[in-house]
Amino acid sequence: MSEPKAPVVLSLVGPGRGGSTVIGRILAAQLGAPFPGETRSMWDWTDFQGGPLCERSCGCGRLICECPFWEQVIAEVPSLLDRQFVAEAERIHAGTISAMGMPLYLLSAQKWLRSLRLPPGYLPELRRLLSVIAEKHGSSVIVDTSKSPRYVTLLRAAGVDVRVLQVLRDPRAVVYGWSRRREVTVGKSGRALPNLSTPMQSLTWDGTIVQSWLRCRVEATAWHTVRYEDFMNDPDEAMRRSLTALGFQTTAEQFLVRREDGWYADLPVQHSMQGNENRVQTGEVPLRIDARWRTEMGSRDRFVTSALTWPLAALYGYWLW
Ligand SMILES: [Zn+2]
Repeated sequence: MSEPKAPVVLSLVGPGRGGSTVIGRILAAQLGAPFPGETRSMWDWTDFQGGPLCERSCGCGRLICECPFWEQVIAEVPSLLDRQFVAEAERIHAGTISAMGMPLYLLSAQKWLRSLRLPPGYLPELRRLLSVIAEKHGSSVIVDTSKSPRYVTLLRAAGVDVRVLQVLRDPRAVVYGWSRRREVTVGKSGRALPNLSTPMQSLTWDGTIVQSWLRCRVEATAWHTVRYEDFMNDPDEAMRRSLTALGFQTTAEQFLVRREDGWYADLPVQHSMQGNENRVQTGEVPLRIDARWRTEMGSRDRFVTSALTWPLAALYGYWLW
């Protein structure tokens, strides 16, 4: 089997619940690139990631193992259904988000990488998976929403050209988003994502940004930061600025439309295997800032979040008091 060329990966990095799904979908539509969701979770069958691959729903509405796109990918990357390989990958991928791994990563990305004890076949297989996804879509670029700075280091170690868009959002909106119990659709049943306490959610927001700034920024081939709020206020401007900064060509295709009541994105079907409920919406999707936290978040949670995130948040223009 010949090895397809490694794609360029446009990786969205930043705190979860930050709006990366809708931004990633828009960027993928603009680039004509596949939007598989969080590629970090494809060999990760834990409930948190949506369970076994075949039981997850694709963005096209089918189960993954019944989707023609993923059938082609799985045929060339059979390790996706190999329980032994998945068990090793789950261990590695847990290391890309665990709080325990953060101090070592901040000290040295290479020492952190060695601490993962990667099996010999893992990095070539990761590179191969990304290559096959791009090839089956007919693209040389993939848009990935794994969000983990440490995963960017894994991609670099796999020999991938990875360009990072750091997506930031007001920490109060992120913490509020985490606090609401959400259901991910897993086949015909739903599984709840675990909740973290408000202090842990706030510190996770800080930790992700510190790792991005100190390590991931150095690892990436190109780097740019965008705020979710700015992207949603003027998606056309933010999209073009982001893609240009990351060295991508933009076309004149107008799938972002401004109407009297705000912006809409005319989004195609995208074969995503992981992400929030917005990934299945197609046609004209309204782009509106979700600001429910302003009226629904408790004052104690607001205070704790602001107290734990303000220095970094202020750096990015979020005024918390
Ligand atoms: Zn599909």
